[in-house]
Amino acid sequence: MARNPVTWLGVPAFPEAAHEALADSQLRRNLRHATHTIRDKRTRVVSEVPDWEELRRAGEVIKDDVLANLDTYLERLEAAVTARGGVVHWARDAAEANEIVLRLVREAGTDEVVKVKSMATAEIGLNEALEAGGVTAVETDLAELIVQLGHDRPSHILVPAIHRNRAEIRDIFRREMPGAPADLPAEPRALAEAARKHLRQKFLTAKVAVSGANFAVADTGSIMVVESEGNGRMCLTLPETLITVMGLEKLVPSWRDLEVFLQLLPRSSTAERMNPYTSVWTGVTPGDGPREFHLVLLDNGRTQTLADPVGRQALRCIRCSACLNVCPVYERTGGQAYGSVYPGPIGAILTPQLVADPHDKQAASLPYASSLCGACFEVCPVRIDIPEVLTHLRAKTVAAKPKTSPEKLAMTALGKVFHDPRKYEAAQKAGSLARYLVPGGKITKLPWPGSLWTDSRDAPLPARESFRTWWRNNRG
Ligand code: SF4
Repeated sequence: MARNPVTWLGVPAFPEAAHEALADSQLRRNLRHATHTIRDKRTRVVSEVPDWEELRRAGEVIKDDVLANLDTYLERLEAAVTARGGVVHWARDAAEANEIVLRLVREAGTDEVVKVKSMATAEIGLNEALEAGGVTAVETDLAELIVQLGHDRPSHILVPAIHRNRAEIRDIFRREMPGAPADLPAEPRALAEAARKHLRQKFLTAKVAVSGANFAVADTGSIMVVESEGNGRMCLTLPETLITVMGLEKLVPSWRDLEVFLQLLPRSSTAERMNPYTSVWTGVTPGDGPREFHLVLLDNGRTQTLADPVGRQALRCIRCSACLNVCPVYERTGGQAYGSVYPGPIGAILTPQLVADPHDKQAASLPYASSLCGACFEVCPVRIDIPEVLTHLRAKTVAAKPKTSPEKLAMTALGKVFHDPRKYEAAQKAGSLARYLVPGGKITKLPWPGSLWTDSRDAPLPARESFRTWWRNNRG
């Protein structure tokens, strides 16, 4: 089976990658500043909406309905897109989707495409596949362009270059951007202006654009992209051919449903009351916009994710990135340590499900990249219970290990203790006694396998007296 490019080749499992990231103090400073700024702003704009909780519940219900009736809505979407002059393509996996896009670009007779920022195309490794086929893909979103020119990898869903500061971006532009002034200052305005000049000529000459989709309306076949810079608007209107690659789950049943998501998404992602640009198109319109429209509907592990009653809630995600901005683990390691297109809490639950291989060490390590504090669930606009899915996936990871693995042995032994009240009480007593063996009131070093825990943190000291003993002595 071909490797699913949702995880990056050659990236180590999360604990190792996180260790390296933690050693980079500049990275931690950049991340702390950026995530705290956006999370504070988000709290302010969300508190302005009196029915925010109702909106969250509405988002959850609409998405759950879509997931429960996905086949019906997808067929409705296909019929609507086709009736309005678009062409729908179905792709089982990344390889199929890349093949379709490459063929369409070749048929359009060009070797360069402009791209709107799209997680789906990053998930399938489209840029690399196009390059292998002799086609250059130009990212037009400013942050994506910084990542592309820096030969780097994205580290945030919404702000892929969040790990870079202004001086680093200035250096990348001076080095890699054709025509960038040698004395370009590290000022946001000057940097944006340099990128604008660079991209303008690309927009005006591109014959083909490739986009993702934030939402697709099943009833009408309309596709929607929301963005902040206007680059998306240029890509979606100027080229002759528009190819949209969209995950199967991005559907909403009707236009009416968009009123919920167009409130939830901007406040949760950029902490804005409304996103600056909302582009919607329905098939093709003679004399206006692209002459050809192709919609590639991407599965790539989504059907098997849907089959898991607990894990499927990850497919409600509208990629707002609020969960990244509040996650204490993400704040310290940054997104690249997750080794996947989807970083942070949503990446920790979505990536292992899309990869769907419990023996893939890198993907299997991701559900452990969390303190289970629950902040991600609190902010998620579609109420994905990320901690619940994390523990569910951890159980799956352990279940897939051989019987003799230390973790499985430990869990089996603990299971026996928890099943038997006498054993449980004896274990508690032994634990309470252990505190007398520990000098200084802290357990800082345990023998293996306990050392796997104490290498990076202290172990909690057992209570002097168990609750059961206290109850017997005081209330029994
Ligand atoms: S899981 Fe929720 S909070 Fe995180 S990106 Fe998706 S929708 Fe946003």
